[in-house]
Amino acid sequence: MKKNGVKVLSARENITDDASGILIEGVLESMAEYYSVELAQKIKRGMALSAEKCLYTGAGLSLGYGVDENKRYIVNAEEAAAVRKIFELYINGSNMADIIRHLNANGIKTRLGNSYSKNSLRTVLINRRYLGIYIYKDTEIPGGIPRIIDDATFNRAQEIMAKNKKAPARAKAVEEFYLLTTKIHCGYCKAAITGVSGTSHTGAFYQYYQCVTNKRKGGCEKKTVKKGYIEDKVIEETVKILTPEYIEMLSRSIEDCCEKERNTDTLKRISKLIRDNEKGTANLVKALEAGKAADVISAQIEKRQQEKADLEAQLAMEKIQRPVLKYDQLKFFFERFTKGDPDDINYRKALVDIFIARIELFNDHMIIYYNVSDGQKTSVPIGEPEKVPLWGTLVEDLNKAIGKDASLGAGFRVGHSYFCANDVVDDAWLNAVIEYELVPLLNEYWFDEPSNVENWTARLRGAVNG
Ligand SMILES: [Zn+2]
Repeated sequence: MKKNGVKVLSARENITDDASGILIEGVLESMAEYYSVELAQKIKRGMALSAEKCLYTGAGLSLGYGVDENKRYIVNAEEAAAVRKIFELYINGSNMADIIRHLNANGIKTRLGNSYSKNSLRTVLINRRYLGIYIYKDTEIPGGIPRIIDDATFNRAQEIMAKNKKAPARAKAVEEFYLLTTKIHCGYCKAAITGVSGTSHTGAFYQYYQCVTNKRKGGCEKKTVKKGYIEDKVIEETVKILTPEYIEMLSRSIEDCCEKERNTDTLKRISKLIRDNEKGTANLVKALEAGKAADVISAQIEKRQQEKADLEAQLAMEKIQRPVLKYDQLKFFFERFTKGDPDDINYRKALVDIFIARIELFNDHMIIYYNVSDGQKTSVPIGEPEKVPLWGTLVEDLNKAIGKDASLGAGFRVGHSYFCANDVVDDAWLNAVIEYELVPLLNEYWFDEPSNVENWTARLRGAVNG
């Protein structure tokens, strides 16, 4: 029914035909998800209970530890020796690179069998479990597990690390989750619209939806829009349609559709075979009554009865695979969506998955096609898209492409200065930079590779006009 999770509905008529089918799948998936969330909560409760007793909860084990048959932590002697070696080298003045060399030379690997990196080494050096502290989420129980490192060594390592600490670690990567992917399409060129993200020249992190045509080669008039703005609009509108009348109509039409779905060819075929079987048996019984060869006919009747039992089993299997959702069940399920928290990502995801068939995005409005049998849709005005500061990322990508091209040699790169020079980033300024500075530069770099020039020119232009 769905191809790779993407259902392309290009016209309203198609939506009318297929939407209830998609909707059933969406509802089933979502129900399954709901049940698995419950299961996950049970597992979590089980883990918390284990934590109270300082037992292994099933999360990753730190290097140096194992678990016995009662789920108690024990020391893995070989790994613990590696942990002590790492601390010893570090507090005696070896730097990370020295330690990594030592570990590699001695064949000491991480828990996952990889060579150590600075990062994994750091993970070892800051792990307070080595002091014998049992740690699970917010629970810390000193003495809860065997100790591997003494306090003095551990504290010395922390001091050295604090001293060597360079620039603060980068801010945690913002989770890139695009709610509308697969459902959202460009209203102008009908291409998909996908998520793009990047860092501006000020270092701020941005997420957008961009027409794929513009991402690849440019040329579509669809402007790139802010992710949060469009997603909020879609959620707001979708909650509005969840009226009691709508839910009633939806539940009825899905129930109907389930009934129809069950009337498939396979079901019909098996049912017919069962009827044929019954007829045949009835004829054999008549023959038997008429005094024909009794033992032969009895054997045939028995064979037919066995066949019938097999067919009935097949029929039952087929029905299980096509569950019938009942009106009351469906109504209850949909009503829960009228009282969700619009900021809850799971709620937002369920709303989009279940109720929305397709979104067509234009510059000043979007059309949301809902998953209902009468092809309900709504047109939502949207504000003028803001200018998209994806320059930093684009320039980085461009420099990477240039860097990969060995024929250009070192030293060729586009300076960030092109993008930081001007605080007022407007189309006219960007266009001028692209046309009079960057495109000539690209022509020079790739004079023998016009396809590279063409490709990058389009990307740069697309970033302004897309
Ligand atoms: Zn487009």
